[in-house]
Amino acid sequence: MLTRCTTCGREAHPLDWRCTACGGVLWYDVLPAFDAHAVQKDEFSLWRYARMLPVTRRATLGEGMTALSEHRVNGVRFWAKQEYRNPTGSYKDRGAATMLNHLATQGVREVVEDSSGNAGAAVAAYASALGIRARVFVPATAAPAKKALIQAFGGELVEVAGDQHAKTLACEEAAKTTPYASHAWRPDFLVGQMTAAYEVWEQLGRRAPDAVVTPVGHGAMFLGFAWGFQALHTAGLIDSLPVMFAVQSARNAPFVAAYQAHATTTQPFDTQPTLADGIIVKLPVHAKSVLERLYATGGAAFAVDEEAIAAATHALHRHGLIAEPTSAVTFAALPQVFAHLGTSAAQVLCALTGNALKYVGR
Ligand SMILES: [Zn+2]
Repeated sequence: MLTRCTTCGREAHPLDWRCTACGGVLWYDVLPAFDAHAVQKDEFSLWRYARMLPVTRRATLGEGMTALSEHRVNGVRFWAKQEYRNPTGSYKDRGAATMLNHLATQGVREVVEDSSGNAGAAVAAYASALGIRARVFVPATAAPAKKALIQAFGGELVEVAGDQHAKTLACEEAAKTTPYASHAWRPDFLVGQMTAAYEVWEQLGRRAPDAVVTPVGHGAMFLGFAWGFQALHTAGLIDSLPVMFAVQSARNAPFVAAYQAHATTTQPFDTQPTLADGIIVKLPVHAKSVLERLYATGGAAFAVDEEAIAAATHALHRHGLIAEPTSAVTFAALPQVFAHLGTSAAQVLCALTGNALKYVGR
């Protein structure tokens, strides 16, 4: 299906990851409308929504259909969407599945990607499943366990000296000659994230929660939920949209700074190391779209400090939720979320994005 630049309107090639004219973000001209009758009820993966996806399935690892459970932790009631239960242990398997299936359909045999974390593992695994060679650019200083996981899934490591940005620049150079399987940029990745909202709607008995709280780095998960519920609303299947909340570490909070300034985009942020290492992003790709959805739904962006992230991680683990610290920022922010909503009775969903088993032994 046709994609186009959201900034200048230029039509894109199916292998483009951003606009070749202005560098803008790409999105689909038209997506299939959500149709409740088109849900394949005997398919227990995100491909039960195949009729709503602009991608043809060639291979699946059983991604999606993650558990939704209700909890009371330290007196705070919330619903957990357990995205860490996906095949490689993170929500990125949704987008990696749709992105790599799309690239395979285009005849791609080799991709590059830059991530030492959840995205690197997800891209390596789905590339392997589809017979695609994946070269994953990581900082040479990345944790040995993270590098080992990418290799275990069949990815080839390209270690780059320097910081996080150095490996991105090296990958973008390689992307001039090899398709870039970018979890941050590609529309065929983001569209897979919308299925999380469809699942929640089914799991709650064809309703939306009052609010959705996600960690935000580039913003793909936040937008997946926001645009997924928007599709359900457009189809007349929910009465109102959930209030969308973006949570970041105080050490890496470009969205919080933008929200507090009532700005429509983010400014470069002086990022610092944080326990929530999955959302360290200086220049978020989807800044404008995230802030637009945040304001439109009456939401907010909140920061949480390191002490709160550590306490939230331990609290979730003690209640059987093996979420990584990057996910735990959502629970840490709940006092701010309920204060913003003005009621403790609201049905609030926390997106638990990544599996803390990846952190064992650190
Ligand atoms: Zn453009």
